[in-house]
Amino acid sequence: MRRSFKPKLIASFIALAISAPALAADQELNLYSARHYKTDEALYKGFTDATGIKINRIEGKEDELFERIKREGAASPADVFITVDAARLQAADEAGLFAPTPSQVLHARIPAQFRANDNAWFGFSYRARVIAYDKDKVKPEQIASYLDMAKPEFKGKVCVRSGNHPYNLTLMASIINHNGEAKALQWAEGMVANLARAPKGGDTDQMRAIAAGECEIALTNHYYYARITGSSKPEDVTVAEKVAVVFPNQQTQGTHVNISGGGMLKHAPHKEAAVKFLEYLASDAAQAYFAKGNNEWPVVASVEVDNPALARLGSFKIDPLNASALAKEIPLAQRLIDKAGWK
Ligand code: FE
Repeated sequence: MRRSFKPKLIASFIALAISAPALAADQELNLYSARHYKTDEALYKGFTDATGIKINRIEGKEDELFERIKREGAASPADVFITVDAARLQAADEAGLFAPTPSQVLHARIPAQFRANDNAWFGFSYRARVIAYDKDKVKPEQIASYLDMAKPEFKGKVCVRSGNHPYNLTLMASIINHNGEAKALQWAEGMVANLARAPKGGDTDQMRAIAAGECEIALTNHYYYARITGSSKPEDVTVAEKVAVVFPNQQTQGTHVNISGGGMLKHAPHKEAAVKFLEYLASDAAQAYFAKGNNEWPVVASVEVDNPALARLGSFKIDPLNASALAKEIPLAQRLIDKAGWK
């Protein structure tokens, strides 16, 4: 259906401008994604099959894509930005990158805990920050909470990545929320005092260090552990034999969880397709794929997860803290981490 164009009539010009997006349905979607998993191919194909909208994907590191969208500004072709961690999503929101998407579908499907209060971003899967430990040297009861890691009994026994990494900043934000600023600082100082070595590497490196006898406890996102236990590489098998994990805070508020998610961009040229895509990611089929790609759990609770590595981890109590509330404390978390000298 095409509307005839009458340039002489200003009124009809305005009418055309307003109704144009509804008439010309978007045929493509430009996705900037910090995810690079094989299962995502099937995820994107499912969207194209269902809607006829082609996805042009630009992949990159989380921080690079964020900078790129900022740099491109109003000329950015990006419609949707997908990344990990509430802290990063919130940073993108504060930089004014997202356009609020008050979608009823997204509201109905995604629990409020896993999306921004201002509808700027949405979580599609969640991950737990767990404590890895040496099965021979540590009893899980000794590390029932994150705070236990900072106890003097673990002096010289903790391995951890940089305090400036979003995973640790967001955990710190959760501790600020639950235990207050003073306790949170005390915890960070205790962590630093207990370090077996200067923070370096990623979460997997900390588990390898435990297996190598360099330390006894470490923080890791659960999917790095799931990856190791599901691997047949000899070096991973060795780590899986020596290292186990606990879900902290099961007697109290529950284990700290973070999200992987995204949102529609303010300058998105294909806004209609962007909303459709976000809604698609919350559908049953997409949820299963989205989560499976990185051994995460889907945010839509009714979605079945067929993943032996996750099944082995069992179920656990989740800290119900809202992702927006967490993200809000990130600046304070950063100040306290700096003050504690957690480099
Ligand atoms: Fe990660």
